[in-house]
Amino acid sequence: MMYLNDVVTIKLDSSKCVKCGECVQVCPREVFKLSSELQIVKKDACIECGACQMNFRQKP
Ligand code: SF4
Repeated sequence: MMYLNDVVTIKLDSSKCVKCGECVQVCPREVFKLSSELQIVKKDACIECGACQMNFRQKP
């Protein structure tokens, strides 16, 4: 069994991001980087744990 490359079940909607950085802190695989905006820098490292989604603050 293996993970498929380039397959991720989550999608970042930058227009809703408030740049709080909480998803960066909780991700165990360092998938995100926050500079002037939130970026996905290691997409294939994601293990789909869901921690980022639960800690993603978004604009109302
Ligand atoms: S689902 Fe888990 S491993 Fe994947 S990006 Fe979110 S926090 Fe990181």
